[in-house]
Amino acid sequence: MFYLDHLSMEGFRNYGSQLFSFNPKLNIICGANAQGKTNLLESIFFISVNRSFRTRKEQELVNFKGDGFSLKGNYIKDCFKHAIQINYRHNSRLSIKANNDQVNRYDCMPAFPTIVFSPEDLKIVSEGPSIRRRFLNLEASRLDITYLKDLRDYQRVLNQRNKVLKQKSNINKINDYLSPWDRSLTNLGVKLIRSRVEMIKALQKEAKVIFNQLSDTEEELSLEYESTIRYFDEPEEMEEQFYNDLLNNREQELKRYSTLLGPHLDDLNIKINGNSTRVFASQGQKRTAALALRMGEVGLYMKQNSIPPILLLDDVFSEFDADRKQHLLSFLRNYSGQCFLTSAVDLDTMVNYLNKSYKKIIIKQGSIIDETVGTGD
Ligand code: ATP
Ligand code: MG
Repeated sequence: MFYLDHLSMEGFRNYGSQLFSFNPKLNIICGANAQGKTNLLESIFFISVNRSFRTRKEQELVNFKGDGFSLKGNYIKDCFKHAIQINYRHNSRLSIKANNDQVNRYDCMPAFPTIVFSPEDLKIVSEGPSIRRRFLNLEASRLDITYLKDLRDYQRVLNQRNKVLKQKSNINKINDYLSPWDRSLTNLGVKLIRSRVEMIKALQKEAKVIFNQLSDTEEELSLEYESTIRYFDEPEEMEEQFYNDLLNNREQELKRYSTLLGPHLDDLNIKINGNSTRVFASQGQKRTAALALRMGEVGLYMKQNSIPPILLLDDVFSEFDADRKQHLLSFLRNYSGQCFLTSAVDLDTMVNYLNKSYKKIIIKQGSIIDETVGTGD
């Protein structure tokens, strides 16, 4: 069992200097709109995986009036206390210390696993492919730290390769320049695709069952990886196919000055009864599919790691109808890990139903204005 015990922050988003202590089971973060509830969840997510779920740009996380931020979290894992400290200053690198040892942000394991539920999850099912690739990347790297390293290397190779394509040299010269990059691109690209396909298979198993429970119908949710590269059982065969496809596409790439094949262009097709959710599903079906994916992630993580991730539920209850709300509440009631729920409206009835010890924190303009604790019985 593990949980986040304390968090202190300085200059993060709309917060000045603020210390939080949390309940191991349930934390309710209340306050009117635009007071800092989501910002608090974002800071918890940031110390867990040193990334935000809202932006790639660290400078956006710095308080408008400041020149940097720091986050310090203490979490309990197997009865031992651990500390993680993150500092960021404008124009310098992010510094991360785990138990006082400096660590590299791309090599370190997540301090603790967190899964965010938010109304924004709807975008995964209803918007363009880049948001689904981000979902795939986050989920695959949560399950396998080498994925993140491969992804970073792939992006570096892709950038270099695109630079060569933009040089507008003649085709013979270009072939010489490109061939070393092509081998690295195909090798790393195939690794990424295979990890994503594996992850999707496992996630589908979980999400499919949950989707049926949530929607109370026989409709079937399925996940299909749509790739620009043909899938083969043997990775070497896939690499060869990718490499040959690159050669055959050279002219197109030279016309468009960019790499037109690879996992950076792939997509995840989320289907209900074989039809694309994005194109055909109703608003309610889309919400149910998005929730089933998130709950599926939790199930998958627990299956592979046998510990419950910390759940960050940002204002989710406002989005669902009574049935789905009840389903989510039953899930949370039985959940053994730590949960954070934010809401701009009163959640007292729901909190009573969850029957857990809890802490309720009220936030106003980036400060705690009140805290209460409850025993849950
Ligand atoms: P809602 O109930 O509407 O979701 P919230 O409490 O979740 O509200 P947050 O998203 O946490 O609100 O944002 C709180 C405030 O933080 C907003 O007014 C936003 O403008 C402000 N904010 C965001 N980034 C920064 C920043 N870098 N510096 C200062 N303030 C910021
Ligand atoms: Mg919010």
